[in-house]
Amino acid sequence: MISKENIKTNILLTILLTIAMPIILGKFLHSYFHMVIISIPLHSAIEASGGVIAIVIAMIFYIKYSKNLVITHFNYSTIALLAMGIIDIFHASVMPGKMFVWLHSTAVFFGGIFFMSVWLKEIHVSKKVYSLIPIIFIIFPILFSLLSIYFSHLVPDMLNADKTFSTTANVLNIIGGLGFFIASLKFVLNYIKTQNTDEILFAGHTMLFGIAGVLFVSSVVWDMQWWLWHVLRLSAYIIAFYFLYSEYRNEIKEVEQTNEDLEMANEKIVEFLDIVDKNVITSTTDLEGNILSVSQAFCDISGYSKDELIGMNHNIVRHPDQSIKIYNVLWKTINSGKVWNGELLNRKKDGSGYWVAATVTPQFDSDGTLHCFTAVRQDITDKKNIEILSITDSLTNLYNRRYFNTTIEKEISRAKRDGKYLGFLMMDIDHFKLYNDTYGHQKGDIVLQEIGKVLTEYTQRASDFSFRLGGEEFGILFSGLNESDSLEFAQNVLKAIEDLKIEHKRNTASKYVTASAGLIIRKNEILLNCEETYLLADKLLYKAKEKGRNRVELI
Ligand code: GH3
Ligand code: MG
Ligand code: MG
Repeated sequence: MISKENIKTNILLTILLTIAMPIILGKFLHSYFHMVIISIPLHSAIEASGGVIAIVIAMIFYIKYSKNLVITHFNYSTIALLAMGIIDIFHASVMPGKMFVWLHSTAVFFGGIFFMSVWLKEIHVSKKVYSLIPIIFIIFPILFSLLSIYFSHLVPDMLNADKTFSTTANVLNIIGGLGFFIASLKFVLNYIKTQNTDEILFAGHTMLFGIAGVLFVSSVVWDMQWWLWHVLRLSAYIIAFYFLYSEYRNEIKEVEQTNEDLEMANEKIVEFLDIVDKNVITSTTDLEGNILSVSQAFCDISGYSKDELIGMNHNIVRHPDQSIKIYNVLWKTINSGKVWNGELLNRKKDGSGYWVAATVTPQFDSDGTLHCFTAVRQDITDKKNIEILSITDSLTNLYNRRYFNTTIEKEISRAKRDGKYLGFLMMDIDHFKLYNDTYGHQKGDIVLQEIGKVLTEYTQRASDFSFRLGGEEFGILFSGLNESDSLEFAQNVLKAIEDLKIEHKRNTASKYVTASAGLIIRKNEILLNCEETYLLADKLLYKAKEKGRNRVELI
């Protein structure tokens, strides 16, 4: 940000250099140097190079301010520069005389008039109109100059008999000069407002052209003052051109710096992506679950290579022990455009399992259509194994007593909430002490494992749980079955145990291993609490033992 002081200094300096200095210099030359330098080639060279530079500056500005297809005061300036530059080139190409002065004066006139348009409002135009404008303002001055030359007899006198400029010439220059001054005011005001250096550059430019128009009136062709304003105008063009060049060079430097920064940022991103690839288990699938991409970490944990995974359906890593129910919920969630979070048991290539905490996120196109899913996972196998160990009985792989205590609380609350039946079946192996005494403790353990398998088989629904509650006592918590269905279910379980046909000679109820059971079925307000349920089931179980074993008792 430029300080207020600096803004003032810049404006004053511009006025000094472009108005005061030329006037003083002009007066000085007029008073003390009465030389006359007649050189048509030098004059032509100055005017032609000025004209060419004007056109180049005009085009650069037109491109520089071409964003958003808005015609700004800079675009209006380019129109003026184009008209002036082109007519000046024609002026440089004719021999001194009427046409020579006419083309110069009209260049100043049109330049000044067109420059005044900087006071016009900005307008939005179509791309077509935007590119048409400079073409029109290239054709117009060419046409004007050619017609002037062709119809030169119609052009008014520009020189008096004593070689001074005619009134028409002076008027054209003064009107043009005034136009430049009026335009310069706009640039000064804009500069104060925006501090855009292009504004002060154009302010100086228009002031200098304004003063050139004024100096014209008091000059005579080929005198020193006449040369002065030619040289000043050319210098102004050269300074403007240099200014644009240095600005362009700075911009190139900035672009190079930005490129360097981008390259470094890119390197960091690549590094970062590599870390992510190696450490985060990610995958992307299409809407059918076919794998589009996987990270190296995904390959490492699953034991598959990228080639083996890409194109396959994601269920390649689905573990058979993982309930299908959770996948139904997952698909329902992500297909409705929501993020799914949860824990999943996945399967490695070698068949073993690994646990992940997964977040599956639907990805949308810019137009809002769902196009793929990305999943980010964390390996939670160790945590999960500890968790499983803490709730599992190691001999039978059933849930342990501890897990029973927390599960029964939850299931009672759930049954109350849903208004559904909750069943609790408590079982105890018949004459198991005698079994151990007869067949040995080790064989007894195998019996416990076999019974465990039967119970697992009978509790496959997500709402059913089987437990080893104590030494040779088991329990099943199940939901949604009424009294008669529950009784049938309990009897089936006991029958399945007997159907294992494990020989037990000393069992009074059967020649095979059997169990007795107490069954409680409750719903709604008559649901008991955890301790009551346990005690009552135990009582019923005792009753079943009393009544002859290998049977179910319920109330
Ligand atoms: P009942 O029909 O009345 O139940 O007779 P029971 O002999 O089974 O009596 P009880 O239920 O009191 O039996 C407990 C026996 O279960 C004692 C023990 O020998 C056996 N037992 C308890 N835990 C284990 C175990 O982990 N492994 C083996 N092999 N036996 C166990
Ligand atoms: Mg017992
Ligand atoms: Mg027993």
